[in-house]
Amino acid sequence: MIIDLHNHSYYSDGVLSPKEVVSLAKEQGCELFALTDHDTTDGLVEAQKQADKIDLKLIHGVEVSAMWSNMTVHIVGLGVDIENKALQAGLKKHQEFRQSRTEKMARGLGGAGIFGAMEKVKKIAKTDMITRTHFAQMLIQEGVCKDMKAVFKRFLTGKKPGGVGGKWAEYDEVISWIHSAGGKAILAHPLRYRMTNTKVRRLLSHLSGAGLDGVEVVTGSSSGDEITLVSQWAREFDLLASSGSDYHGWPNQRVQVGYLQDMPTINETVWRDWL
Ligand code: AMP
Ligand code: MN
Ligand code: MN
Ligand code: MN
Repeated sequence: MIIDLHNHSYYSDGVLSPKEVVSLAKEQGCELFALTDHDTTDGLVEAQKQADKIDLKLIHGVEVSAMWSNMTVHIVGLGVDIENKALQAGLKKHQEFRQSRTEKMARGLGGAGIFGAMEKVKKIAKTDMITRTHFAQMLIQEGVCKDMKAVFKRFLTGKKPGGVGGKWAEYDEVISWIHSAGGKAILAHPLRYRMTNTKVRRLLSHLSGAGLDGVEVVTGSSSGDEITLVSQWAREFDLLASSGSDYHGWPNQRVQVGYLQDMPTINETVWRDWL
């Protein structure tokens, strides 16, 4: 059974429209699919319309940025009520923070001799949501860098010209928004934070203490060993296991919607009540 609970559309930093990504999921044979754009649920109305039309079971999701120990982590909310006021008020704060951050990034890049960044990223973005990925695409298009990895390293992280500190809501607050909206809070891609395993376990321990429901055991880029490791952590911290590709649709991204390794049978899955 193909289940993919982490995907992006152009309502954040994905390439496809919600309608297109839902259609693609169906073509790939997905039976359960979640759209989880960064800090917005705005693509879900269009996604739901298409899911109804082609008979795909859609889970309403969102990938919320959050602070833990002064670092940014991503918490995916699954099965959220998109009309919920607490969730939308929280997401609105993040959307506003993104706007002010965008201006700072453009100024920083201007200081490095890259002018007109703001106008250029606005042309690339299809909605008001501007992410670092849009800046990355712009710098690749301008021929400044050759790929995503190089752009993030040279321009968009730490003290680099377009690097900006994260000031998202704290993890416990983000988990409470998701719970207010009736959703399950899942730590996204636990092995992608450039933390030691000891630190990731501490992260899982703190988030579990704040009510985290699950963790992504399988992602589109997981190796077999990584799945085994996170599967054990999920058991240790009594967390549900989730599976999601983190599909964005960028030209060089290797992951595809619905291409995921099997979930270890020892884990309880987040989707057990949704089938
Ligand atoms: P933002 O939420 O605007 O800070 O953008 C974060 C997004 O940028 C992530 O969701 C990834 O899709 C992408 N990203 C972050 N770091 C990298 C990287 N080193 N290489 C490629 N993409 C990245
Ligand atoms: Mn992204
Ligand atoms: Mn993420
Ligand atoms: Mn993602």
